[in-house]
Amino acid sequence: MPVAPQVVIIGGGLGGLCAAHGLRRAGIGVTVHERDPSPGHRPQGYRLHLDSRGAGALHQCLPPRLYELFTATAGLPSRRVTVVDERLRELHGVTFDGVSAGGDPATFSAPVDRMVLRQVLLAGLDGVVGYGAEFTHYEHEGERVRAWFADGGSVTGDVLVGADGIGSRVRGQLLPHARIKDLGTRCVYGRTLLGERVAGLLPPRIHEGFVSVRSSRAGLALGLVRPREDPAEAAARLWPGLRPQWPGDYVMWALTVDARELPGTDAERHGGPAARRRDRRLRTADDRLRLRRGARVRAGGDGEGRTSDQRNVPARANAPLERFRPERASPAGSPSARDLAPLRDLLHDTRGLPPGRGLRVDAMSRGVRADRVA
Ligand SMILES: Cc1cc2nc3c(=O)[nH]c(=O)nc-3n(C[C@H](O)[C@H](O)[C@H](O)COP(=O)(O)OP(=O)(O)OC[C@H]3O[C@@H](n4cnc5c(N)ncnc54)[C@H](O)[C@@H]3O)c2cc1C
Repeated sequence: MPVAPQVVIIGGGLGGLCAAHGLRRAGIGVTVHERDPSPGHRPQGYRLHLDSRGAGALHQCLPPRLYELFTATAGLPSRRVTVVDERLRELHGVTFDGVSAGGDPATFSAPVDRMVLRQVLLAGLDGVVGYGAEFTHYEHEGERVRAWFADGGSVTGDVLVGADGIGSRVRGQLLPHARIKDLGTRCVYGRTLLGERVAGLLPPRIHEGFVSVRSSRAGLALGLVRPREDPAEAAARLWPGLRPQWPGDYVMWALTVDARELPGTDAERHGGPAARRRDRRLRTADDRLRLRRGARVRAGGDGEGRTSDQRNVPARANAPLERFRPERASPAGSPSARDLAPLRDLLHDTRGLPPGRGLRVDAMSRGVRADRVA
């Protein structure tokens, strides 16, 4: 009798949760260990742009009903990317052909709200995801692997998946030579709730997709998030019991500047006087949103024009690294290669994505080993 394989995933972010669904769908036992004490512990950003590969991975991994919920809560497809100047005059644009409003996101790019997507991904994983579990290191134990946590606890499995984000400790132990590059830019981003007045100030092309405002000193990106169906209604229809947090349609804005243009260090900007000064300035912008010279909008009583909050993050990326080919070994007593084939496929599928984008996982195990290929 083959032994049912057990996979331990570190990190309950987008990649870890998607992988957990895919493994369960393939009949593989899985647990997810997340450092945060709860799913809503910290804000994690707003609009995500999922291209067809990201949505395709969700299509493969999620139970069909949950994928339907993802589709219902995703925004209308991007039909165009437009570049404008500082006065919002169009410079150029790229139009994508063959995109229909009702189509499947797995066939094109679509915006999604990150928190709604996380809630969709968490659905159906009760008892699978554990919180407050800060992974510290792993050890081999015969043909198995043991993951250790900061509270002294541990868990064993046949495969360990490091889905613990850009600062991954799993990767740090497996690939100590891997480096994260600071790209030298800092991004201040936030969202502003949408109403008729705000919508009227935005470049009309924004209804077709992302708009990039080009300027000599900073870049500004604007993107609408308007789900096809109200997330609460879609959840009630497709996954009763799930109550997605949804603030209403909004425009996400992201200002990218050269780090040298900003006062203070990153640490100071995250909590020091410079951060407080920035937050005060941005709070002022809550009440007088200036989208272009002379145009001012007062936040309405309904919250229109209110910038709900904003973040300041360094832009970082994985330095280029050799690709990894999971190898299989089927020692006596361990899961057979056939049992683990779905995991291998999942890793292959997700690894093709560029670093830092989309859904990506790194794997280490005795049964399926990630080996370096030149
Ligand atoms: C401002 C911004 C905008 C972005 N826009 C896009 C976009 O439009 N499209 C896109 O595809 N991508 C976008 N990204 C990138 C996207 O966020 C990442 O590609 C994606 O989140 C990676 O998923 P992940 O599961 O690998 O990591 P994450 O989503 O970061 O999840 C990692 C998880 O691991 C947990 N963790 C970390 N360390 C430990 C530990 N030691 N023990 C246990 N758990 C741990 C973390 O708490 C977290 O929950 C954007 C990123 C930012 C910052």
